[in-house]
Amino acid sequence: MIGAGVIGLAVALELSMRGANVRAFDSGNPGGAASWAGAGMLAPYLEEPPEALAGFLAHSLAMYATYARDVHAASGIDPELQLNGILRVARDEWEMERLRERSTRLAGAGVASTVLDSRATVELEPAIDPHISGGLLVHGEGYLDNRRLGRALRRACERAGVRVAEQTAVTRVEADERRVLGLQTSAGFVAATTVVNAMGAWASQLPGVPDDCVPSVFPVRGQMLALQAPKGLMRHATYTDDVYVVPRRDGRLLIGATTERAGFDARTTAEGIHGLLERGLRVAPALRGFTVSESWAGLRPATDDGLPAIGATTLEGYFLATGHYRNGILLVPATARLLADVIEGKPNAFAGTFALRQEANSLNV
Ligand SMILES: Cc1cc2nc3c(=O)[nH]c(=O)nc-3n(C[C@H](O)[C@H](O)[C@H](O)COP(=O)(O)OP(=O)(O)OC[C@H]3O[C@@H](n4cnc5c(N)ncnc54)[C@H](O)[C@@H]3O)c2cc1C
Repeated sequence: MIGAGVIGLAVALELSMRGANVRAFDSGNPGGAASWAGAGMLAPYLEEPPEALAGFLAHSLAMYATYARDVHAASGIDPELQLNGILRVARDEWEMERLRERSTRLAGAGVASTVLDSRATVELEPAIDPHISGGLLVHGEGYLDNRRLGRALRRACERAGVRVAEQTAVTRVEADERRVLGLQTSAGFVAATTVVNAMGAWASQLPGVPDDCVPSVFPVRGQMLALQAPKGLMRHATYTDDVYVVPRRDGRLLIGATTERAGFDARTTAEGIHGLLERGLRVAPALRGFTVSESWAGLRPATDDGLPAIGATTLEGYFLATGHYRNGILLVPATARLLADVIEGKPNAFAGTFALRQEANSLNV
């Protein structure tokens, strides 16, 4: 396994539980890159993605309650899953009308949601500005603590026998004309018959594989900050078109996130943090007195067509699990099952759906 973010760790855990002998290498800290930086929202219905992805997102959400319970049991670390719905807030009548339409479309797809007037919205989340027009609570969505999930997956992997190497970079895939032979790492050569590239935003940066096996993944920076508020002040992940607030059980409120093409630069900027605070306090002015306890940035693994790359490649033994962009935390359970099924040659309703796209890839050659 190359890369031990939540995607690499989850695939490693699944393969190990199915009997494989798995090693995972991370050039930094396992669970420490985008997987640490994310907000942890489990929100398949926030946007309207292509149909294939929409189905996969909903499928992964449906797996989450069992998955989180199993990872908790296997690791002793609770990822603090909360599936109490995500609240969209409308700041004016035009936005409210869009939320009503969205509710109707969701109902058509069998997803329950409740349209709330301004009073009911503020009753649900009292920190929200009472001058908003209303809200929409989409049932079944929610959030978890992705930093805890990363730690839990690592612990579960190690307990299941996966050898996780941190600060160990993979520098090259070794292959003959037909198949994978192993990996060059900063700690030496490791022979392997099956290799999974789960390098997140860095997935296209791996030497030694044929051009047509290189995914068109690129980094999109997201900056975030946290406020330290009293426990329980906010209970729902709360979302507007330009900012969101996501609670943690210890009282922290995460405010995010920017969407920037800044290469591999994962710094925060004055402008980024200023904008988040301004937009966050506009929707929830009651937060203005709390301490800013942390700010950070991470690199989302984006692709040209917005779909992840999960599956086999033309190089025998070389697989991809990357390009999860804004939904990598949500897609952990479904990705682990899908890729393990593909590697084992087992049927999976999504097999082939996210295989490497040559047209998209050729844009980056
Ligand atoms: C600000 C922000 C907010 C987000 N909010 C959400 C959200 O609310 N919900 C959601 O579902 N998703 C969210 N995401 C997206 C989600 O965090 C990512 O899609 C997901 O974490 C990707 O996981 P990953 O394991 O593929 O990548 P990463 O976590 O980035 O892991 C990749 C790993 O590969 C390692 N690596 C790189 N190169 C090498 C090498 N040569 N050798 C060995 N290891 C290497 C890195 O060190 C890293 O640990 C957010 C992301 C950001 C940045």
